[in-house]
Amino acid sequence: MTLSDKSVQEFKDIFKKEYGQDLTDAEAREQGERLVGFFEILYKQAQIEHRRKLRLKNEGIKGFYLESTEGPYTCGVCGDNYQGNNIWWNTKGLRCRDCWNNIKKKVTPALTYDNDNKIWIKEWQLQYDYNLHPATRKKLRRQGLLNGRDLKRDDGLIYCTVYLVKENQEFLKQYSKKPRMTVKFVNSKLKSRDNEK
Ligand SMILES: [Zn+2]
Repeated sequence: MTLSDKSVQEFKDIFKKEYGQDLTDAEAREQGERLVGFFEILYKQAQIEHRRKLRLKNEGIKGFYLESTEGPYTCGVCGDNYQGNNIWWNTKGLRCRDCWNNIKKKVTPALTYDNDNKIWIKEWQLQYDYNLHPATRKKLRRQGLLNGRDLKRDDGLIYCTVYLVKENQEFLKQYSKKPRMTVKFVNSKLKSRDNEK
């Protein structure tokens, strides 16, 4: 995407007006083109989404597998990446074939990406966010304090376990989520120099 000189000048004017800062032509061109590129991506995605929703309406269906030429996409439940033909799409999100099969079999409710853990917790998060060692996790599951839903592939292999918040109230009372880590930058060289003074 190349901007015309007129558009670059307009971008400079807007930037000056909004942020009180003068950009050079080169800076304005670079930032302007990046912005246009960003909106092109958003626009393209909105078009795709619109076309998919239209298909639901036209065919009277609730979801469908995407094309093999689309993707790879990340499954909203197990987090694995698959080409479109192994990704079930509906208005709630993207799920891989295995996860969608488990949802259909009601092994798990129709989960989708949940970053805040309001609905469910991913297994790897138990270790990193709740300080739970895998061995402890197994013990707690045996004791019934921790309740997981095991998602299985067609061959019976468990490939993913999800923990529903509503089924783990007692566990969540005893194990609270670690606060997000804040990274502190300490310059060790500066520090030692200060100490020498
Ligand atoms: Zn999946």
